[in-house]
Amino acid sequence: MTVVRRNLPHSGIRAVFDRVAEIESSGRAVLNLGIGFPRWDETPPGIIDDVIDAVQKDDFNYIANRGLLELRAAISDDTVKRIGRRFDPETELVVTHGLVEGLAVCSLAFLGAGDEVIVHYPAWDHYTAVAELAGATPVPLNLKHADDFLIDPDHLASLITPRTKMLLLNSPNNPTGAVQPAETLKAIAGLSEKHGFLVLADDIYHEFVYHQEHVSIASFMKDSPLLLYANGFSKSYSMAGWRIGYVASAAPNSDALNRIHQYVVGCGTTFAHTGAAGLLRHPQRQGYIDRMRQVFAGRQTLWTSALAECDGVQLVRNSGAIYLFPRIEFQGMTGREFCYFMLEEHQVAMIPGDEFGAEYGRHVRISFGSDGATQQRAANIISEVLS
Ligand code: PLP
Repeated sequence: MTVVRRNLPHSGIRAVFDRVAEIESSGRAVLNLGIGFPRWDETPPGIIDDVIDAVQKDDFNYIANRGLLELRAAISDDTVKRIGRRFDPETELVVTHGLVEGLAVCSLAFLGAGDEVIVHYPAWDHYTAVAELAGATPVPLNLKHADDFLIDPDHLASLITPRTKMLLLNSPNNPTGAVQPAETLKAIAGLSEKHGFLVLADDIYHEFVYHQEHVSIASFMKDSPLLLYANGFSKSYSMAGWRIGYVASAAPNSDALNRIHQYVVGCGTTFAHTGAAGLLRHPQRQGYIDRMRQVFAGRQTLWTSALAECDGVQLVRNSGAIYLFPRIEFQGMTGREFCYFMLEEHQVAMIPGDEFGAEYGRHVRISFGSDGATQQRAANIISEVLS
């Protein structure tokens, strides 16, 4: 007999990709606006050389559970520059198999039955799963389109109870693109300190902030043991397939994380860690990041202009990530119906809004992560359909 301990749902985002694969295997091309990956065909040559070098040296041994020390040291220096906090590479950093693993080990290490986790919705589907994985209860903080999907700290405060163990915070945000203002982040940091709950700050889109500076809540939590600072290489450096994320936190928390990580993943891939360390260590290799940000800012403008011309579309112009989350009125369809209509009839793939929270059934998520030609063609088709 199989005993299912946690009956987590299959990801509806993956269900769209499965259908895309079926359509493509029948010979029809799909314009994919579903993928949450900023595609950028330019890996700095130095990184590849470092990886090839490591491979040619037969550098295939296991590394420390926490990840290659050289990479942890480079990440530690990087966080000093970006968020003003140094994490000890020996005791305060765990490099994970992408941030997907990082979020899951945070759940298993810190949450349990009876704990409440505040999740601001719309949220990436992993967030609900992260709370439920360890048997905790997600408490929804439903953000409104009318408020530009920004958090009201008083609303957040009203949800705090003695059981509140953690807040999952994602800015710039998947799926809305919202970037929470500095004063909001400061107020949230104050609530964490007052009530003693952990803040899991997922900054994975930190380089994708347009027309303003990125501010992390981490800069308001200085030496706080309540901060779990989560980030990775998938988005900001366009290195999703390398599977490198990390969680930085005070030593006792980091030790708790590492204990779970050692049984789930063991350690990362030696030569991938070598390449990532080389990227952080050589600022001249990071020039592509600014070019990438400019191109993605242009794509965001392309979409906001195209959608502004369409009937039945309400769009908040947010300033970050690689997503738009419009509300769409089209022939009485829900967002889910509209997505599948566009996929089946026009071969344009988007993600239904209700994948990010039940309240958002009229929305769809558009990713502008794929190449520019795909974006332009898809924008033309959607404009034609909606006009
Ligand atoms: N956090 C957010 C908000 C994401 O959107 C994603 C990926 O889509 C991740 C974390 C995890 O990324 P990865 O496992 O590739 O590091």
